[in-house]
Amino acid sequence: MTPDVAAATGYDLERVRRDFPILSEEVHGRPVAYLDNAASAQKPLAVLDAMDRIHRTGYSNIHRAVHEFAQRATDAYETARRRMAAFLGADSHEEVVFLRGATEALNLVASCLGRHVLRAGDEVLLTGMEHHSNIVPWQMACEAAGARVVAAPVTERGELDLDAFRGLLGDRTRIVSVVHVSNTMGTVNPVAEIARLARERGAFVCVDGAQAAPHRPIRVDELGCDFYAVSGHKMYGPSGIGVLWGRRRLLEAIPPYQGGGDMIRSVRFSGTTYADPPAKFEAGTPHITGPAGLAAAADYLEDLGFDAVAAHEEALRALAEELLLQIPGVRILGTAPGKAAVVSFLVDGVHPHDLGTILDHEGVAVRAGHHCTQPLMERFGVPATTRASFGLYNTRAEVERLAAGVRTAIGVFRG
Ligand code: PLP
Repeated sequence: MTPDVAAATGYDLERVRRDFPILSEEVHGRPVAYLDNAASAQKPLAVLDAMDRIHRTGYSNIHRAVHEFAQRATDAYETARRRMAAFLGADSHEEVVFLRGATEALNLVASCLGRHVLRAGDEVLLTGMEHHSNIVPWQMACEAAGARVVAAPVTERGELDLDAFRGLLGDRTRIVSVVHVSNTMGTVNPVAEIARLARERGAFVCVDGAQAAPHRPIRVDELGCDFYAVSGHKMYGPSGIGVLWGRRRLLEAIPPYQGGGDMIRSVRFSGTTYADPPAKFEAGTPHITGPAGLAAAADYLEDLGFDAVAAHEEALRALAEELLLQIPGVRILGTAPGKAAVVSFLVDGVHPHDLGTILDHEGVAVRAGHHCTQPLMERFGVPATTRASFGLYNTRAEVERLAAGVRTAIGVFRG
């Protein structure tokens, strides 16, 4: 963001950085430049404090006891559920299920919706850019039902081939499950359009929003999907907590995911009746403090303002791509217009893991690998990429250090 834009949006980067104590750490004698936000983002003090407060002033197991600490912990947990319903544009907090993360949310949908609707010969339609979390659970569900997974292709620029998607959407398609924002390329999928097409065909729609929630306002009421998965740790919240939003009538209709305490109405050896959603899907002791931390992260993002955050991150992405493309032998994977601030790239003659190691020695944290998107890597004929993913606290100087580190690595490997 230029200073003008910063002034116009009120985005105070220095203040933002002060909210994240970890950013003043050094790595190998240099200030850390943390560019691995798509893997997991750092946490502001507000998130750390929200969880700490519960541990210090009102911690106990939730929902079950009548004593004051249990009451305080339960209040914090249920207040966070209401907060996340508002954050996602849900009709009711009863449509918000707290789970371990996006992976568990997607497993729940595949397992429970799968058992409810999938029959032999049915199809589940995905895209070629899915994270393994939105592939493997569907393969498991399809295997159990005798159904099959179909994937719509990705274009050379890294976009969903919408015509091919339309062609694959058929009478056998019972469920469509798509990633909102690609973790490897930053591509933003037209989820509302995908949901409209799927629903016209009578298919259920699930969205993997793990990479969308940190960067853009999510309105499930406008997207037209049936389920939406969110990951806490990627949106500056704690790890081990995430949200599954689901339409109430579907949460009521599908079977529970796991059995145990808290998800029942009554248990007898002759049979068990289940609690209403969301409790029906929250068996056992949950991450008691996580939801409060997640709600604090939602507050933090909305207080900064998604427009300001997006403008800041977009400026960093544009600068990163400009500087990287000035380096001979650098190629960017995923060039869709309007992409999020994720830059996956390849450098001739330098393996991504070697590049990642050299950058780490320069204090620059990036991710090297297949990013849990092996089918996408196969589509582009590469085993791995180096990925820089930008967050709301990153700076232009950090982007410049990334580019300088790439030049250093080239010097080492190409001589
Ligand atoms: N989906 C996408 C697109 C992701 O990037 C990730 C994590 O990298 C996941 C799902 C899994 O999320 P979680 O770590 O919350 O299980």
